[in-house]
Formats: sequence, structure tokens, C-alpha cells
Amino acid sequence: MRPFTYARAESVTDALDSGRAAGTMFLAGGTELLNWARIGIEAPDRLVDIGRLPGLHEITSRGDGLRIGALARLNDVAQDPRVEASYPVLSQSILKAASAQLRNLATIGGNPVQRTRCPYFRSQDPVACNKRVPGSGCAALHGANERLAIFGWTEDCVAVQPSDPAVALACLDAEIVTEHADGGRRIPATRFHTLPAEDPAAHNVLRPGELITGIELGAPAPGSAYVKVRERESYEFALVSAAAAVEVRDGLISRARLALGSVALRPWRLYDAERALVGLRPGSPGVRDAVTSGFAAGRALSSNAYKIPLARNTALRALELALEA
Ligand SMILES: Cc1cc2nc3c(=O)[nH]c(=O)nc-3n(C[C@H](O)[C@H](O)[C@H](O)COP(=O)(O)OP(=O)(O)OC[C@H]3O[C@@H](n4cnc5c(N)ncnc54)[C@H](O)[C@@H]3O)c2cc1C
Repeated sequence: MRPFTYARAESVTDALDSGRAAGTMFLAGGTELLNWARIGIEAPDRLVDIGRLPGLHEITSRGDGLRIGALARLNDVAQDPRVEASYPVLSQSILKAASAQLRNLATIGGNPVQRTRCPYFRSQDPVACNKRVPGSGCAALHGANERLAIFGWTEDCVAVQPSDPAVALACLDAEIVTEHADGGRRIPATRFHTLPAEDPAAHNVLRPGELITGIELGAPAPGSAYVKVRERESYEFALVSAAAAVEVRDGLISRARLALGSVALRPWRLYDAERALVGLRPGSPGVRDAVTSGFAAGRALSSNAYKIPLARNTALRALELALEA
């Protein structure tokens, strides 16, 4: 690991000032960043510890929504009674992520910034990976791609974004609120991650030195649920996951939101399926066809055709659970 200096920011302004210097990275819980430094994915010159910035740990009610400070620990978010009651999909997605010990350290702001677990990206040996060495190619395209993308991939990158909470946040149309020395902004959770067609080397739309200060949730979604399919039942990344949020009026679905995880480099909303579900009676035969319609753009790689039916069935199960909630 290359040596780096360490400093603790005492305020948001202090952090933004420090973030101006090239080679600086923010350190929150450290559960991702220190691994990157260890295996050579990142070699920062300077870490600025934002872990104790005042005012960014709280979860506060705002109108009928909620603002979650970026430094709130994953377990604190999942166990907040307002999150459990009004956004069960978010609580469930967090409780299925990582381990209890990691969730006590990892922050909700750091979680969506985590990078792909693609074995070529994480390799400690030199391999073709446009995310590690731009222009070097994508060894996964014809390599070990069993767990990789079925949506939104290009020949330049077939990796997937592994965050569980990010899928729930995309389903809930959450906004990621940032500050930067040149001004802050609100980024829709559905647009936070970068697809390879936009830039195969990029992971997300954050600018250098841009600090996530919070995540904002809109109106409650009590009819929501998260399903994660993985090779073992705990402490494992998803093969596929699905988040669903539904509203029913007069016995018919009046609004549906569906997002898939671990199928693309960003949480993948099934907008066509969402539109097709409106007006259907829950449990009616048309529901399966409506969800299936969201998969028209799905394209398997050489070794992951199983993920298309798996993702469809996972979305259907999440929808069923959301309707029962
Ligand atoms: C063994 C293991 C298993 C895991 N399993 C899962 C899983 O099943 N599901 C899942 O979703 N996740 C999983 N994770 C990922 C884990 O949830 C993330 O590592 C964690 O959420 C990152 O948060 P952090 O606060 O530790 O971020 P850090 O490691 O401190 O930072 C990660 C990145 O985010 C940036 N960053 C952090 N906070 C901010 C901020 N406020 N503003 C701007 N940039 C910021 C940092 O600069 C860095 O680039 C796993 C991790 C490990 C190590």
C-alpha cells in the first residue's frame, strides 16, 4: 500500500476545502476505501476523515419525507422506526447487505459509492479492465462473467454495481444531496451511477471533492419490499436483487416502481413494466406479463443467461411481497 497522509475534517467547509487538492479522498466508515488502497485500486495521497462531521449523522423528518445524513451508519438507518414503517424496502435492503459488524461501521453515503465486485476489476494481477486501466479492454466480456450484467453493458464493460441500498433508493426515487466548493446539487438515485456507454472508466457522477451530505426520501412507501438472491443466505453479494414499491386503489394497482440490483452498473428501473402494471388487479395473470415486458432490453453474456429468468422471478416476488405489506 502506498503511504498517504491522514487528516480529520472538523466541518463541511473544512472537508470541501481539503477536497480541492488532487489526490485527496474522503474517508467515512473506511470499509471500502481501505480495501481499495490495500489491493491497489486507489492510491490516494491524502485521506480526509469525514466520519465526525457534525450534523451528518442524523435522520430527520421533512414534510412527509425523510432526510438521512450521509454519515448515518447502515444499521442505524435500517433500524430507525420511521424507515422500518414508511420505507421497508430500504430497511430490508440494508439488513441484507454485508454483515452486522460492517453495517455498524459503513455509512449510507459511502454505500452507493462502492465499486463493482467484478473479479477483473478487483484483481491484484494486471488484467484488461477499462475501469482499472482505461483503454485496456474488458477481460470479463469473454471471461468469467456468470455474475455480471444483463442490462446496459457494452463491450467496454460488463460489470455490475453491487450495492443493495442503492437499489431501494432508486426504487424510491430518492435524491442524493451533495456539497462542493463550486456548489452543491441533488442527484436522482436513478442517475447516480455511470453506465459504460457514458464512460466505461467512471463509477458515478460525483466530481472530485464533491461531498454527499444526505439522502432525501419523498412520500412514504409502506407497500414496498426487497428480495435478494445470493449463493448463501448471509454475508454475500447479490446474484440479482429486486426492490418494489406499489400503491393499490379500488383493488387495482395505481402506481408501481420496480428496480433490479446486480444486473447493470446502476440499479435498473423496469419503467416499461411499471407502466404496464398500472390498472391491473394484484395476482391477476397479466401481472407476470407486465413484469416480463420490462426485460425486452435484457441481453445475456456468454455465461449468465440464467440471470434473466432469475431477475424476472425476483422482481415478481418483490412485487408480491410489496402488495402483501
Ligand atoms: C466483506 C464485505 C461485504 C460487503 N457486502 C455488501 C453487501 O452485501 N451489500 C452492500 O450493499 N454492500 C456490501 N459491502 C459494501 C459496504 O456496504 C460498503 O463498503 C460501505 O457501505 C461503504 O461505506 P463506508 O462508509 O465504509 O465508505 P468508505 O469506505 O469510507 O468510502 C467508500 C467510498 O465512498 C466515498 N465516500 C464515503 N462517504 C462519502 C461522502 N459522504 N461523500 C462523498 N464520498 C464519500 C469515499 O471517498 C470512497 O471513495 C460489503 C463490504 C465488504 C468489505
